[in-house]
Parts: sequence; structure tokens; C-alpha cells
Amino acid sequence: MSYPSGRHFLQIPGPTNVPDRILRAIARPTIDHRGPEFAELGLELFEGIKEVFRTSGKVIIFPSSGTGAWEAALVNTLSPGDKVLMFETGQFANLWHEMAGKLGLDVHFVPGDWRHGVDPDALESLLREDREGKIKAVGIVHNETSTGITNRIGELRKAMDRARHPALLMVDSISSLASIPFLHDEWRVDVTVGGSQKGLMLPPGLGFNAISEKALAASKSARLARSYWDWQAMLANNKSGFFPYTPATNLLYGLKESLTMLREEGLDNVFARHARHGEATRRAVRAWGLEVVALNPAEYSPSSTAVLMPQGYNADEFRKVVLDQFNMALGSGLNKVAGKVFRIGHLGDFNDLMLAGTLCGVEMGLAVAGVPHKTGGVAVALDYLKETAKEARADVALQHA
Ligand SMILES: *Cc1c(COP(=O)(O)O)cnc(C)c1O
Repeated sequence: MSYPSGRHFLQIPGPTNVPDRILRAIARPTIDHRGPEFAELGLELFEGIKEVFRTSGKVIIFPSSGTGAWEAALVNTLSPGDKVLMFETGQFANLWHEMAGKLGLDVHFVPGDWRHGVDPDALESLLREDREGKIKAVGIVHNETSTGITNRIGELRKAMDRARHPALLMVDSISSLASIPFLHDEWRVDVTVGGSQKGLMLPPGLGFNAISEKALAASKSARLARSYWDWQAMLANNKSGFFPYTPATNLLYGLKESLTMLREEGLDNVFARHARHGEATRRAVRAWGLEVVALNPAEYSPSSTAVLMPQGYNADEFRKVVLDQFNMALGSGLNKVAGKVFRIGHLGDFNDLMLAGTLCGVEMGLAVAGVPHKTGGVAVALDYLKETAKEARADVALQHA
């Protein structure tokens, strides 16, 4: 293979571009994870990570993929045969629901068209119908990375309250954490599942569970088998800054740097930046004469955009052209939409010129691959970036509350 000169554009919606500051932080020698220096790091991280979830409660950090943190959320709070309500919003909801089934839970999976998020009214009526309180948990993916759809967790929480249903609320925030406003405490989420490789700008390898008091209480009587994922052993060790087993020490160095960077930029500015890049991207897509997958503007994702290919054109062939010609990786269509959709990730360590380069790669790729489209999408996106350059501040954020 010949050397591809210049910087690779990693524009899949995670893993995202890892900034040099984080790479340098990770490159330090590994230390004794039972020693005093580690304890100091651990205590700092267990406290510091709370701000990202907007919680004052406990956040557990697993050496794992996001998938592991999904499993931890379920096995710590539920018992065999418990009924769980989930919604088919896309591939990640699909996978979480499959996992719940394998673990012996009784999942009611509400079918969806992959173009809409969860309807708060539908959630309310399903919970109202459950008069005996059989549903023990509701599981929702905040940002469906496969479809570019962001569920309105605040609205969904209100729907659960209207139904006066006691089910636990579990939310996958893997591709929304540190890129889309997420309010664990205010929305009274019971378990929030997170991962390191998206908004947190880290390599893959850390999974998170932010836990409410209610979830913690449920874990005392939950009977699903657990060992590696057991919260109790984690919490007992975390008190003094340690883990019950060897943690991903170098990724934790990276997490410390990530939290510093997010604090320097300010979370509200981070959210505003993502919202603005999402809008610029969708304007480009529309100007190309293409269609985004998400149909409800209230559910447009600030962190990833899924684009429908014109009939008769294969998204993966297009992506191959973009990779070969322009050294840029775009996200593939998953499962039901394989070959029909490509995805543009615009999250993590990212700025206007990186977005401009990304959209140029898509527009040129469409031409080189012979995909019918109108030119000028990039110009439309740049106009929007210029118009909003000065006001690109926190006032654009929190639209997703
Ligand atoms: C990336 C992603 C996952 C999967 O995380 P892994 O680290 O690959 O296990 C789950 N849910 C969402 C919404 C994601 O974007």
C-alpha cells in the first residue's frame, strides 16, 4: 500500500479524532494501580466525570467498550424475566434489546421505522396500560448514531412522570455525552451508559455507568448474575480511588486530559459547536439534493448525520471511493440500511475547517463516484458557518432539552 500523504479524516461517528494532547497524555508510563499516585488520579476522575453527565451521584468507569456498560446497566438492576420496554429507533437500540433478551429479560420491543425517535405519547400510553407495574425498566438510546436521530430524553422523562410509572429509566448516551446536552440528574435518569470514543475524544476502551439512588437501591435486590460488572465491588474500591481489578490506566490519563479540555472550552460551548456543525452539514446535504434519514427536525442529531443514497446507488461503493481518493472514512449504513445510507460524523475534537474538509470530501466523492447530485452543498454550508461565526456560543445549545 502506498503512503497516503496528509492527515487521515476519520469522519465516522465514533471512534472520533483523538487530539494530540490526549495522545500525549496516554503515552506516559503505566503506574502501579494500587499505589498512592493512582489513588489521587482515581479520586480526581470519579469526581471530575460527574460534570459531563451533569450528576452529583456516582459514576462508575469500566475498562470496556460501550457494550460492556450496557450490560452493566442491565445486570446490576434487574432480575431474570423482568419486563423491559425498548424502542426500535435504529441499530444501537436493536443491539441493546438483543442483549437484554440474551440476559434473560423479557423485552417488549416497540417497532420503529428508523426515521423517528421515541414518541413521548406512545411511551406514556404503553406505561399507562401497564397497570400492574410489570415493566421494570425503560431503555432508550439518546443519540441513535446509526440514523442521526436524537431522542428527546427530557420529554420522555415527562411522559413517564405523567403515567406515574415507577420503571427505571436507562439511557445510552454513548454518542451524545460531551457533544449533545445530557442532564442525568435533571431528567432523573437512573442509569446512563457512556463510552470513551465519541464526544470524550478518547480511544475506545472505557465504559461508564452514571447511577441514581433509585438504581443503586434496585441493585441491592436485583438477581441477574454479575461479577465483572458488579457495581458494589466497584463502588467499594472507588471510594479510595481504586478499582477491584486492573483498570485501563493509560486511558484514564487520557480521560483526565479530556476533562481538562472540555472544561477549558466549556460544555455549553461544546454543545453549541456540535449543534452548529450539525446544521451546516444538513444544509449541505439538502443542497446536494439528498435527504437525511431523520424526518423530525426536533430530533436532528448534532453529532452525526445519516444520508440516504439516491435509488440504485450503493453507499458502500461511494464510501470506498471517498476513502481511496480522499483518505476519508465515512460511516457505513448498519443492518436494515446497509448500502442505502452513509453517515458523516461531526463530533469530538472538531472545528469549522475540519467540517469544511469533510464536506468537500463528500461533495467531490459524489462527483467522482458518479452519484447524481447538485454541486454547491459545501458553499451553502460555508455560508452558514460564516453567518453564525460570531454568535457561535452557548445560546445555540440546550435546544435538545
Ligand atoms: C458507538 C455506540 C455504541 C457501541 O459502543 P461500543 O463501544 O462499540 O460497544 C452503543 N450505542 C451507541 C449509541 C453508540 O453510538
